[in-house]
Amino acid sequence: TPGGSSKSKEEKIFVTVRVRPLSKKELAMKDQVVWECADSQTILYKGPPQDRAAPTSYTFDKVFGQSCQTDLVYEDGAKDVAMSALTGINATIFAYGQTSSGKTFTMRGVTESAVSDLYKHIENTPEREFTIKISAMEIYNEDVKDLLKPGSGSLRLLDDPEKGPIVDKLDEQVAKDKEHLRHLISICEEQRQVGETALNDASSRSHQIIKLTVESKLREVSGCVKSFVASLNFVDLAGSERAAQTQAIGARLKEGSHINRSLLTLTKVIRKLSSEKRSGHIPYRDSKLTRILQLSLGGNARTAIICTMSPALTYVEQSRNTLFFATCAK
Ligand code: ADP
Ligand code: MG
Repeated sequence: TPGGSSKSKEEKIFVTVRVRPLSKKELAMKDQVVWECADSQTILYKGPPQDRAAPTSYTFDKVFGQSCQTDLVYEDGAKDVAMSALTGINATIFAYGQTSSGKTFTMRGVTESAVSDLYKHIENTPEREFTIKISAMEIYNEDVKDLLKPGSGSLRLLDDPEKGPIVDKLDEQVAKDKEHLRHLISICEEQRQVGETALNDASSRSHQIIKLTVESKLREVSGCVKSFVASLNFVDLAGSERAAQTQAIGARLKEGSHINRSLLTLTKVIRKLSSEKRSGHIPYRDSKLTRILQLSLGGNARTAIICTMSPALTYVEQSRNTLFFATCAK
């Protein structure tokens, strides 16, 4: 069955954490910086004494401090995973964190760098013929909308016997070259901003997926064709405070707009995929986001998660929640 096979242990999720600089608002409030990077893998809590049970040190595959540029976050946090799409391995890069922690800022830069690298590789590999396609969607309240086609309504998810879960009628366009792909990505970003003004917290409640399909085959072939096809997904998640809220409220309440099923299910799926045993049922089917990404999370796939956080004391609880999620994802 699609996505049913389990990943080997060496393909565990690559987990990094990025701490942004203090924002203007935090600076104006004279907020205190309480998180510091001790080295390239460790984040330390340096604030006032807290609950003794709370860890003061957290270790990940990489951590990026306040002065770190997005280029380096891409280089050390996402590039290897992204480029595996060139050899037929599905790849997904997520940004996870509370609202205003830097998810969109980080994903924009990471997507831009990955696009540059894809085309660099294409230029350096004249013996292969590449096709890059793009589709993009937003999931808001378990409603899927097309970000490439302005004004389109909700789209249905279907189970294709061969391709697995697909979004029915989702627009897909072939990128003619790098500039064209950049242009198509900018359309998706504009579309998302339109939604944001209509409902001011839409971006904190919605997930955005930009999906590139990377195909290649040898130009001169006789007989057996070695072709590759894989998807490369860039996922800017809803604010993680939504998952924390959901967990706090519990299952008794009926699902309302404040409950983010996709984010909650994603955290469960990621925890299952990262656990030692990897046995048992993985609840991909419980949300739209996890159904859409199923083949890029389980099976022949690589995943990188960039967790973003504020350095400020004010957000220490949210930052700890993010670090807890990141620890579970390792
Ligand atoms: P989110 O998508 O998580 O809600 P944003 O990416 O919109 O957060 O970031 C919130 C604000 O902080 C934006 O104005 C953004 O430009 C700024 N910002 C985020 N991360 C950084 C960073 N690493 N360096 C400088 N500014 C940043
Ligand atoms: Mg955002």
